[in-house]
Formats: sequence, structure tokens, C-alpha cells
Amino acid sequence: AKKVGRANHQFFAPEMNAAAGARLALEHALRQALENQEFELHYQPKVDVASGDVVAMEALLRWRCPQRGLVPPNDFIGVTEEIGLIIPLGAWVLREACRQNRAWQLAGMAHLRMAVNLSACQFRQKDLPEFVAGVLAETGMEASCLELEVTESVVMHNPAEAAQILDRLHAQGIHISVDDFGTGYSSLSYLKQFRLDTLKIDRSFVRDISSDADDAAIVRSVIALAHSLRLQVIAEGVETDEQLDYLRELGCDQYQGYLRSKPLPAAQFEAMLRAGA
Ligand code: C2E
Ligand code: CA
Ligand code: CA
Ligand code: CA
Repeated sequence: AKKVGRANHQFFAPEMNAAAGARLALEHALRQALENQEFELHYQPKVDVASGDVVAMEALLRWRCPQRGLVPPNDFIGVTEEIGLIIPLGAWVLREACRQNRAWQLAGMAHLRMAVNLSACQFRQKDLPEFVAGVLAETGMEASCLELEVTESVVMHNPAEAAQILDRLHAQGIHISVDDFGTGYSSLSYLKQFRLDTLKIDRSFVRDISSDADDAAIVRSVIALAHSLRLQVIAEGVETDEQLDYLRELGCDQYQGYLRSKPLPAAQFEAMLRAGA
């Protein structure tokens, strides 16, 4: 038996070493990426359903890796969370988003809200509200122009603590959104516990909204729930006019999606806004 065990060990070891090696290389590359400023933010508009006006934007992280090309966040955020890199990386994202938004304001563009995604690790930092306040002071951006997007699971991890942190962010005038609403915890009791401003309906409910009666019912209910709690509702992943027509009919306040624009690099986003698109 011992012999077989050793044989197995020898058989699997090279494969495992290869996987571990690739993972170590990725971790190393990500750490370098922050130092080498290989990260960039792309911006996607949030649009008022009734007027068609762009009312805000969401900053979405990309990694422009010299070897791997443009890497989407789902391919690396998880690793940065596991190795703790998300803390300095998330700090860079917030600073860069606020700096860019302020720069656009100073250049005479409309004062639009800038939404930034927060990971669970960032949310667990006790000094998050003070850190955010510091970035706002440093960049000169008004708190009312900042929106933070957190998922249900992020706030439900420790509801009592989350309620406090959200209160302290809200007290500064920062806008709080629940991202991917409907995909996380089923309990809705947190909606009255937490200081929130917007529910963001997940793309999975929007995709088949015009053909799937269940999806339409869910979206209708979420909109009614949000409005009765005096929250705003935004739908994500809107790709077709048909989906938008449905959302308008259901009373959805805002939308975001490829129908209006993909997330764009800063220069292209600015050009789009200037063209009045
Ligand atoms: P999310 O916050 O739910 O962002 C929405 C995702 O849907 C984005 O993918 C966006 O590009 C994509 N999207 C927008 N409109 C459409 C559409 O009409 N159709 C389809 N099929 N997709 C659409 P992206 O940029 O790849 O980001 C993926 C996720 O990575 C985000 O999901 C968010 O959870 C995370 N993420 C992105 N940037 C950051 C960041 O700075 N910090 C943290 N912690 N997470 C981030
Ligand atoms: Ca988001
Ligand atoms: Ca989302
Ligand atoms: Ca989503």
C-alpha cells in the first residue's frame, strides 16, 4: 500500500506543482501590477429611465497586463481578496474614481455621481468610513457625489456591524446601493435595518424579463418593495429596447447596460458625455 501511495504521490505531484506555480506567478504578477500601475478603471453610465439622461457612472476595474492582455475583474478580484491585496487595490480604486470624477467636474462637466464597488474585505475594515472621508477630503470630491455598491452577502456577514458602518457612511452624505439584489440572502429584514438608497436588480432577472413571466413578477415586486421603502431602483444588464420598455412600464427608476454603453476607458467615456450621448 505504501508503494502505491508513493507512486500516486509521484504521479500527481508535477500537476499540483504546475497549478501551484501558476497561482504563485499570478499572485506575484498582481502585486507587481499595483506597483507598476497596470490597473485602470472603465466607466459605465447609469441612465434615468424617464428622461434618458446619464445621472451617474459606475467605475469597473480592469487589469492591463503586459503578458495577459486586458483582464476582467472576475478573473483576479478573488485572488486579490485571498492575498489581502484587495485592501491597497480597493483604496487605489476609490482614490482614482474620486480623482477622475473631480477632474471631470473641474473641467466643467455635469456633476454626476460616481459609484464604486466595495469588496467584503474592505467592508470589514473598521476604519472604512474614516478612510472614505479621507479620500473625499484629499480629492476634493463632494460626499453626495459618491455612491458605494455593496452586495447583500457583504452586509449580511455581520449585520450589526454593517448597520453601524452604513450609518457612518450615510451620515457623510454618501449614497449606498445594494448590488446584485435578489441573488444573495433571502431575508428582507435587513432592508429596514440598514441605511440604503438604491436597490440594484441583478442582470439575471432582467435578461428574460419580456418573455419570462416569473422574472417579470420578481422585478415588479422588487420595484414595488423598493418604492414603498422610499428606495430607488436600478436595473443592470439592460441590452435591448424591449427590456427597457418593460422596465419603464414597471416603473424602474434607472438602468445600466450595453443598450446605452459598455464600460469605457476614461477618455472614451468623457467623449461620449461631451457628445451628449
Ligand atoms: P457588478 O458590480 O455586478 O458589475 C456589473 C458587470 O456587468 C460588469 O462586469 C459590467 O461590465 C457588466 N455589464 C454591464 N452591462 C452589461 C450588459 O448589458 N450585459 C452584460 N452581459 N454585462 C453587463 P465587469 O466589469 O466584468 O465586472 C464584474 C464584477 O467584478 C462586478 O460585477 C463587480 O462585482 C466586480 N468588480 C468590478 N470592479 C470592481 C472593483 O473596483 N472592486 C471590487 N471589489 N469589485 C469589482
Ligand atoms: Ca456593481
Ligand atoms: Ca451588479
Ligand atoms: Ca450582477
